[in-house]
Amino acid sequence: MRRPWGLALLSLLAGVAAIAVALGPLLASSGGVHGFAFSTIGVGAILIGLNALRRNRRAPSAGVLATAVAGIGAGAIGSVAMLGMLVTSPGGPTLLPFAPAGPVVAGSTGQWAASTTQVTLTSVAVVGVGPTKQVVVGNGGSVRLAAGYSFRSATSNPQLDVRLERRVAGGGWTATGIEATVAPNAPLTAATPAYSTTLATEAVQYRFASGTSASAPVSVVYENQHLYTGMAATIYADAAPYCPNTAVEIAHLGGREAGDYAPGALLIRISTAVGVRANLTRASQRALALHECSHERQWLNYGGSQEGYAQMKAAAAADFTVGDNGAPPIEHAADCGAMALEPNGYLGYGGFCTRAELNEGARLLNGQEY
Ligand SMILES: [Zn+2]
Repeated sequence: MRRPWGLALLSLLAGVAAIAVALGPLLASSGGVHGFAFSTIGVGAILIGLNALRRNRRAPSAGVLATAVAGIGAGAIGSVAMLGMLVTSPGGPTLLPFAPAGPVVAGSTGQWAASTTQVTLTSVAVVGVGPTKQVVVGNGGSVRLAAGYSFRSATSNPQLDVRLERRVAGGGWTATGIEATVAPNAPLTAATPAYSTTLATEAVQYRFASGTSASAPVSVVYENQHLYTGMAATIYADAAPYCPNTAVEIAHLGGREAGDYAPGALLIRISTAVGVRANLTRASQRALALHECSHERQWLNYGGSQEGYAQMKAAAAADFTVGDNGAPPIEHAADCGAMALEPNGYLGYGGFCTRAELNEGARLLNGQEY
């Protein structure tokens, strides 16, 4: 085979490979580094094709010309498609990489329809908690799940068709009827549907699914508060008027805290010392329940999102002084909410609550914002 022929065929091979890699499903979720490496295949196809054309001038062959031009064209298409994939969202959250693929180069007839949009689900998290396999709520509770994703589409404004599925013990994946929503440059999110169990606890798995991809599952553990006993039942009864969907667990908290609440889940944890070595009076137990329930409402009343939580902190800093020992305003705010409804309780973080602080603290427990 004459040398121009070999170069022309090599150019065509590399060009086709560049397109195949650009359109292949693997790269959609693997980010920019691979994309950059593979884009050199397309550039290589162009350079080799040009070299073949240069060597074809002495004894011109129409076959070499056609093959080399095809290789150059394929290399260009592959490179452009790859560059489109390298476009990443400038404001995307780092926790959940959002890597939209740019428009794939459509055929000259532009026949790719919006329905060809392929969504690849790359990660899953509980909003407020972060990446996790499990989260605990009480009966009737809901959490918001978020999915990192990438997509490829022939349109600049594609329809992302992603739904929330669930699986109860012993069953298969079924539809919840809930579609994920997406804001520009943000993860896909969906709130899990309200669910209650008649068992003491029950785990239900949820996942995001598109036509071609499914996320890892997240297990939501529902606790049936009506079957609580002992201190868990006591604390839940105190919190329930304001935090009806919370779970309560008695846990070893390291001895420093009487209780805690972490944003994202619906779970109040109470130290094993409560009622045994600490918080011996009913009023102090109720104050503790209302303090932790205030933290739950600090998350829920502002939309259950990181943006809302930041708004809440700013509002608390404006409306509440810091506690005696320099604790953050959200702690003094939770103390004052508890004191407003349980005047015989205590302020875990010290100081005192003004009339205005008591009013604001009670507003939050009743479902309003600070
Ligand atoms: Zn607190």
